[in-house]
Amino acid sequence: MEQGNPLIVERSNYRFEFAQILAPVMEEIEAVLLSGDYILSQHVSRFERAFADFIGCDHALGVNSGTDALVLALEALDIGSGDEVITVANTFHATALAIARTGAKTVLVDARINDFLMDVSQIEAAITPRTKAILPVHLFGLALDLTSIVELCQRHNLYLIEDCAQAAGAKVGGKRVGSIGNIGCFSFHPSKNLAAAGDAGMVTTSDAAIAHRVRGLRYFGQRERKVHSEFGYNSKTDAVQAIVLAHKLPFLDEWNELRHRQAERYRSELSDLQIAFQSSNFDEHHVYHLFQVQTSEREALRTYLVSRGIDAVVRYPCPIHLQPPFADLGYQRGEFPVAEHLADTTLCLPIRPDMNSKETEYVVGSVREFFADA
Ligand SMILES: *Cc1c(COP(=O)(O)O)cnc(C)c1O
Repeated sequence: MEQGNPLIVERSNYRFEFAQILAPVMEEIEAVLLSGDYILSQHVSRFERAFADFIGCDHALGVNSGTDALVLALEALDIGSGDEVITVANTFHATALAIARTGAKTVLVDARINDFLMDVSQIEAAITPRTKAILPVHLFGLALDLTSIVELCQRHNLYLIEDCAQAAGAKVGGKRVGSIGNIGCFSFHPSKNLAAAGDAGMVTTSDAAIAHRVRGLRYFGQRERKVHSEFGYNSKTDAVQAIVLAHKLPFLDEWNELRHRQAERYRSELSDLQIAFQSSNFDEHHVYHLFQVQTSEREALRTYLVSRGIDAVVRYPCPIHLQPPFADLGYQRGEFPVAEHLADTTLCLPIRPDMNSKETEYVVGSVREFFADA
């Protein structure tokens, strides 16, 4: 490697995402700016229709964020104080935060060491008479096979809510995530595979009654005009975000495929090193929101890569049960050993649809040099 002039390898490239769409996006945004039709509006319904069709469900409802999508989904199912919702200790904070926000109790199970996802085999033992829903997470872009959870939900009369924030477009069993459970929750935070120009989120469902309830909840609890049937939220997608998202959506499958190819290069060119990857059985399962490598040298590797201009980051260094606001759930360190181990040992290498060979070679070369020196 040349000295003194390292490449900078970033995690996102918004110029690339807008390359083919900037002119029509700006034209529509300009018209909206001058019309004053900023919130919800036809632009939002157009994107909701397109997203529902893309996911393969009947309804999609735009909200302020992925976190709100989860909160509104839970409330639409009447989940609150006295109820329990089962999720996984290895996830982004917002999954568990949303449950806590409704007043329900967050019940955790551990992750699996091979694919870093919810350990489905631990769910049944966590079910109590108060359990209302199971909330699995398609983490890092990898779709969790929900077959056995669907079966559990039927047997115990529970709802299934999918946290799809990191996996827009991923498929499992031929279906897109977000179309399998009762409700799917998506985030379009700028870091996600389908990125808005700010915060935005979406609730997907094929249940008309749930859709009706979410529509009211996002609009001050108003189910009919001027009648506030319940305390709702103010959580509506705005037109500017919907314009950006509607123009990007047609590219999502192609971008996910490019992420996949990038991941394959990392996997094959780093396969002989002392690092592990998130295992995945079928290509269509993984849309590689993040590319995780697992190594006991995590901190040293991160420092080394960052010093070489490579934007490697840790997601997430502290599992849910060890975060301060969840202390009163009473979980101890050691209770979810796999989630704790992953929190200590995983590192994300930069992955973008537009990464070029020079960048890939630079990241691969840097990781290899680190292990050669170690
Ligand atoms: C990003 C994310 C969320 C929250 O989405 P926001 O739009 O940031 O509120 C929820 N769950 C997971 C797994 C996420 O990655």
